[in-house]
Amino acid sequence: MSTTKRCYYETLEVERTADEPSLKAAFRKLAMKWHPDRNPGDATSETRFKEINEAYEVLKDGDKRAAYDRYGHAAFEQGGAGGPGFGAGFASSFSDIFEDLFGMAGQRGGRGTGRERGADLRYNMEITLEDAFVGKTAQIEIPVSVTCEDCSGIGAKAGTKPKTCSMCGGAGRVRQAQGFFTLERTCPGCQGRGQMIEDPCPTCSGAGRIERERTLSVNIPQGVEDGTRIRLAGEGEAGLRGGPPGDLYIFLSLANHEFFQRDGADLHCRVPISMVAAALGGEIEVPTIDKGKSKVKVPSGTQSGRRFRIAAKGMPVLRSRQMGDMYVQVVVETPQNLTKRQQELLAEFEKLSSGATQPEAAGFFTKVKDFFGTRGAAS
Ligand SMILES: [Zn+2]
Ligand SMILES: [Zn+2]
Repeated sequence: MSTTKRCYYETLEVERTADEPSLKAAFRKLAMKWHPDRNPGDATSETRFKEINEAYEVLKDGDKRAAYDRYGHAAFEQGGAGGPGFGAGFASSFSDIFEDLFGMAGQRGGRGTGRERGADLRYNMEITLEDAFVGKTAQIEIPVSVTCEDCSGIGAKAGTKPKTCSMCGGAGRVRQAQGFFTLERTCPGCQGRGQMIEDPCPTCSGAGRIERERTLSVNIPQGVEDGTRIRLAGEGEAGLRGGPPGDLYIFLSLANHEFFQRDGADLHCRVPISMVAAALGGEIEVPTIDKGKSKVKVPSGTQSGRRFRIAAKGMPVLRSRQMGDMYVQVVVETPQNLTKRQQELLAEFEKLSSGATQPEAAGFFTKVKDFFGTRGAAS
């Protein structure tokens, strides 16, 4: 995996010597360009967006950048210096971009408080064409971690209070002298919280959050298409230690339909008809997506493949009152498994056929004859 991975500096289109402000500027520019909200339904931009995020996550952090400069991507593989859990999944890339681009930094809380925005969740939902036609309210069950009610997310057992961390005196950061430099880093004793929990809450074991199944109602509007994304703000995972929750993204995919094919707002339907019906003409009844029926007049002498339009029997257009059309394509089915009697009748019919009954065939064979005729004359 690491061999195919692009260099983080290349991903951000910066020099290896780039300083922090130019890294940030490059990241902002690229993230705005590739943000999935600006490129809905485009898988490439989502991938690019994740790569940009991952690269910036590493390079903006002095320690991680140093490790990357020294060991490359190997520094962050499972079991490597970065340890498990690192790497920009869908969730982490989103939580960061919203903070960075839209100025939500205040919601995360000051540095060192340990407050953290909850992760975003992705939920894939398959719906039928009929659902997309009428729209619906779907009940979904999602496993989410929610703030523990017993300790209000603090993680300390009821009646006890977290104690100020002795390693950092509550600052959440510690200073270390290394040669000429003094490094300031997140306190390893309290992971930046500034507080230590001596009696953890028994309900959540001190994490401040618990896993729950949550039922949500999702409103699916009429006319949604394959790949439509619905964002439910604040319905993602609970934040850490009182941080704000993440968002929930519902990715819709449309199941294939038995006989309707969708093309934007229009629907297409192939209807087989008999040779005799096509020749004599008549009326056929076709199903419509609204569970009704429409009649289509098939004129006598209809050829296979001919399309008929039924106005406004297609799909609704998202957030509008417009409706697409339905196209019925008739396909003439050649009779098979004929009885002796049927063969006789058709043979008799053929004898009576002429250029008038089969103009296309007659015309074609005349042309073929001419073709051989002129070639013969030339040689
Ligand atoms: Zn608790
Ligand atoms: Zn501490």
